Amino acid sequence: MERRLDHYLERLVSPDSMTFYKALCDFADERIEPNYLEWERNHDLLPQEIIDEMGQMGLFGVTVSEEFGGQGGNQLDLILMGLALGYHSQSLAITPGAAMSLGAKPLQLFGTEEQKAAHLPDLAAGKRMFVFGLSEPGRGSDATNPQVTAKKEGNDWVIKGEKCWSTNAKWSSHVVVHALTDPDSKPGHRTTCFIVPMDNPNVSYQEMAGKDLWSQSSTGSITFDDVRVSDDAILGKKNEGFKVMAKTLNGGRLFIAGMSLASLAFALDKCRIYSQEREQFGVPIGSFQRVQDVIIDMDITLEQGLTWLIDLTNRYNDNTLDRESAAKVKIECSRKASDHLTMAMEICGGVSSLDEFGLIRHHRDLFVCRVGEGSNFALKGFATRPLMPDITLQ
Ligand SMILES: Cc1cc2nc3c(=O)[nH]c(=O)nc-3n(C[C@H](O)[C@H](O)[C@H](O)COP(=O)(O)OP(=O)(O)OC[C@H]3O[C@@H](n4cnc5c(N)ncnc54)[C@H](O)[C@@H]3O)c2cc1C
Repeated sequence: MERRLDHYLERLVSPDSMTFYKALCDFADERIEPNYLEWERNHDLLPQEIIDEMGQMGLFGVTVSEEFGGQGGNQLDLILMGLALGYHSQSLAITPGAAMSLGAKPLQLFGTEEQKAAHLPDLAAGKRMFVFGLSEPGRGSDATNPQVTAKKEGNDWVIKGEKCWSTNAKWSSHVVVHALTDPDSKPGHRTTCFIVPMDNPNVSYQEMAGKDLWSQSSTGSITFDDVRVSDDAILGKKNEGFKVMAKTLNGGRLFIAGMSLASLAFALDKCRIYSQEREQFGVPIGSFQRVQDVIIDMDITLEQGLTWLIDLTNRYNDNTLDRESAAKVKIECSRKASDHLTMAMEICGGVSSLDEFGLIRHHRDLFVCRVGEGSNFALKGFATRPLMPDITLQ
């Protein structure tokens, strides 16, 4: 049966984009689908050979320009990659996805020519990865006020504190640290981003234990114990660090919306197939109206979500996408997909609780889509502001 995702994408993107997308679906079908269950049961992160293979395919450089050895693609290519790989596994999709949308992107947007030349070729080749170091144990949604500090001592900046929830930390060569540099300035102008090598002796990393979603994706906590760097390490402008982080997150939120739809698309196909095969009371369960109701609701959300997401992605590529729209599509796709997954599991019954059936994995992974890159509730407040400009929203 044709994937419902492909059915809609064919109407929304060019034949060339479809060719790229299908090649990635083939890769995921052949190299990932037969193996993920074993990795999941063993609690393994993605094997290095898969990361290397994705590097050789250019998947860590999809949106890096050809000048720096990348594929020269745009945000639509990144979203298509998220849809193709995320259909089987969000962990798989987020690994190159975060490497580009959160790792390479701030460098592409704000890096000096020297910084880009020093890092982008290796990032595009998958030989390096950058971590996006925004979240901290005590600072999640309140990210404009980091507890990680960078203080000037002579010619050096001295960075101290801890970042956490850092996707790809295990495989990363550098972390972009968002640190407090001017506590007395107004929010949004207090912080600076620094590029810090992970192999600095005063940087330590630990994989966060007990995470039971995005199971093959590395998520680390990174500690900075008086790490010294020079002005050359500043990414963007001094005290404009939050701008670097916020602008980066616009693209990242589109990617999270795409992965949410990939999970929904997987669940929709699974339910369509299963409800035509599984019989109860002498008929396929799909002949019950309640089951049809759930399936058609999933299909409607998939078509709506994809149409909206591709439109916003084109606007991102044209540089006309506003931050509120990126937040809203991430909120809506993740919450709807998440709600549908609960119903999808219910209409399939007990089999949904088995890992090999796949739904429970996507259900779990969708939680990150609701909370990551700005929790949906916090983003709602932010997206509401332009609607009620005359009052201060809490
Ligand atoms: C698997 C995973 C990977 C991640 N990867 C990265 C990464 O690579 N880099 C990185 O920097 N971060 C990363 N994150 C962190 C993620 O961005 C944060 O979890 C997110 O910003 C929310 O912060 P918090 O979890 O500390 O929740 P908190 O800020 O403590 O919020 C808890 C809850 O309080 C409510 N809330 C908070 N503020 C508001 C508000 N203003 N309005 C309404 N409700 C509110 C919401 O319900 C929210 O969900 C990752 C997280 C996960 C789980």
